[in-house]
Amino acid sequence: MKIDKELFLDQYVRLRKSHPCGGNLWRIVRLGADIGLKCVKCDRRVLLSRRLFSKQLKHIVDDVTSI
Ligand SMILES: [Zn+2]
Repeated sequence: MKIDKELFLDQYVRLRKSHPCGGNLWRIVRLGADIGLKCVKCDRRVLLSRRLFSKQLKHIVDDVTSI
């Protein structure tokens, strides 16, 4: 998915690939050359390059109440 909107800290996103814990919902915890994501299910953090992130990104969650 092409990132056609701005990313914000604390935004929730879904990735194509699930985390080993089974979760695929992530919260953005760092924005820079790399994107820091925290797995909502197990609280582990990962860093993805922007390129990889845009490849893995499935969905940006706009409405947090829908989670
Ligand atoms: Zn996880």
